[in-house]
This record gives sequence, structure tokens and C-alpha cells, in this order.
Amino acid sequence: MIETFLLNSFLLLSQVPKPEQQFTDLRNKLQQFGFQVIIQLPPKRGAYGLLQPNTKKIWINPVVFELNIGTQTLIHEAVHAAQVCAGKGKIQTLGLNIQPINYARPFFMRYTDVHRQDLEREAYAVQTQPNNFKLAISLLQEHCK
Ligand SMILES: [Zn+2]
Repeated sequence: MIETFLLNSFLLLSQVPKPEQQFTDLRNKLQQFGFQVIIQLPPKRGAYGLLQPNTKKIWINPVVFELNIGTQTLIHEAVHAAQVCAGKGKIQTLGLNIQPINYARPFFMRYTDVHRQDLEREAYAVQTQPNNFKLAISLLQEHCK
């Protein structure tokens, strides 16, 4: 009885899309569009994620998996990837009509460069949407094909 129950609940759980699965799916999508996702300490100290537009390399700090923000971090970097595609290699804003939720404001307002602030505002806006994963995938498909 107990074994059956455990098996059933395991099957049930495995049907729910897990963040790890979304991380893998998004990583594959990024690689399909020529971005390289590296799970390593980014060259910039203290960053959770980093994208280098000229090399199309994305670093993901391994600590994000412990903090349970792996998918969220990759979604943020995927928006920057779409921005790189939109600018044909030079990063530019996508002109999205969504705003990040208030708690994210300090994260992009700390950038003094206004252009950088706009880029970050978009990344945080997508990252904090309830449908952030789907949105990131569709932005990549729209701008990186
Ligand atoms: Zn960013």
C-alpha cells in the first residue's frame, strides 16, 4: 500500500514542470541560438549571472542552485540574450510594454548608466512575470531566429 502510494505521488510530482527542467529547456534554447551557458563563477565578482555580448557567453554562478533561483537567473540572462539578438550583436532594449514589480526596482536602479538601467529594467520585468519562462522562450524565438 505504502509503496504504491509513494510511487503514485512520485509520478504525480514528476508531471509538474520542475524549475530544473525549465532551466535545462531554456539552456538548450539558448544554445540553439548560439549562446554558450557556462555553470561557473562569473568573471564579475558577486554576480549571479553574466552575459558577454561579443562572445555570446553566459555565466551562471553555481550558488543560484543552492538559493533555488537557477531558472530565474537564467531567465534574466535569456532576456539579455534576446537583447543581443535584437541589436544584431550590440545589446539593445526590446521595447517591452511591461514593468518589473516594485521590489525589483533597487536591482536595476543601482545602475548609473541610463542605457544599462533600461536593459536591466527589461530583464527584471520579464523575470518577475508569472509567465516568465514562456515569455523568455518567446522573446528568444522572436529576436534570435
Ligand atoms: Zn542583467
